[in-house]
Amino acid sequence: MNRPLYFDYQATTPVDRLVFEAMRPYFMEEFGNASSRSHAYGWAAEAAVDKARTQVASLIGATAREIVFTSGATESNALALVGAARARKDHGRHIVTTAVEHKSVLEALDGLKSEGFDITVLPVDSTGRVNVVMFEKALRADTILASVILAQNEVGTLNSIAEIGAVCHHHGVWFHVDAVQAVGKIPVDVEALSVDLLSLSGHKIYGPKGVGALFVRRRGPHVDLIPLQKGGGHERGLRAGTLNVPGIVGLGAACALASIEMPREMLAMAELRDRLWTELQKAIPGLTLNGHPRDRLPHNLNFQIAGVTADAVLAAAKGLALSTGSACVSETLEPSYVLSAMGLSRDEVLSSVRMSVGRLTKPDDVSAAVAILKDAVEACRR
Ligand code: PMP
Repeated sequence: MNRPLYFDYQATTPVDRLVFEAMRPYFMEEFGNASSRSHAYGWAAEAAVDKARTQVASLIGATAREIVFTSGATESNALALVGAARARKDHGRHIVTTAVEHKSVLEALDGLKSEGFDITVLPVDSTGRVNVVMFEKALRADTILASVILAQNEVGTLNSIAEIGAVCHHHGVWFHVDAVQAVGKIPVDVEALSVDLLSLSGHKIYGPKGVGALFVRRRGPHVDLIPLQKGGGHERGLRAGTLNVPGIVGLGAACALASIEMPREMLAMAELRDRLWTELQKAIPGLTLNGHPRDRLPHNLNFQIAGVTADAVLAAAKGLALSTGSACVSETLEPSYVLSAMGLSRDEVLSSVRMSVGRLTKPDDVSAAVAILKDAVEACRR
């Protein structure tokens, strides 16, 4: 069977062969429980987890003891936000976020309302960015926490995280950043960005699914969280549960590989993406780019196709695997709240598609994808 060409690297990525090889021994030979302190099986697993912790930390400028392993970024976001809010509730109950956060952030914050927290959801501009001055104005004496996405998962727009982080620290507000789409793709440094809590996920960076991490600051302003799940006291008491050793090893290996590959890969991705956009515009009239024209992820495109619905185009473009936005909300069939927040009309939102290139995209795939999309759009327009 000829599988469609994959242009949906922001939904997920394949596990890199090197990552897979690093994980392999930890399923069968080295199957120990990382918490077994009394024998060599446990020690080997613990050593592997320690190594992975260092690999994850070093990709984001953190120290190993600031990394908590989780089941993915959905859990990292929940632990960060709910854990921080509950830990600080005696200082205040106001939290600031933006309209273009991932659902896992917005839903976690929504759930906090029933605990008496007040959530301010800031609007964004037409490129998907939150304004730093407006952000600072939204802070109040009782603001304890803020959460801002680094690279928006649908449109790829990058927020001014360093400026927002500086504002947060100036006002004593803990700052959480969902960096899932940015880590491993562009440089991310928790010190340079003044971040206190940062979420990342394995499967967006050529690592396995079902594993992620949360950076929890332990230097300077120390961040304490109330854990969501309690039990055996794993992960410094922040996340109980037997560690997913193969997954954690995979996440570590993916981070190590990303630090080596990033300088070259960033340029290669941007080149492929730019070529894709140039060829698309030549082949298909009536395309409009969504998101920021420059400050965006190197591998993402999101654009409107005038006169058609994206769903019809996707159905007609059988040879292509791409999406109308976030895989996480596609099951609800609601039009993108991210694009709506950027001021697009309903028709513009419904005509928008996301395409992302990745490590396995070849230059020939770009031309092939353009030809498939051109035929699909022409068929839909007819
Ligand atoms: N945040 C963002 C920005 C994402 O793109 C995703 C994945 N779609 C998540 C959080 C959730 O990550 P995970 O799949 O690891 O739960």
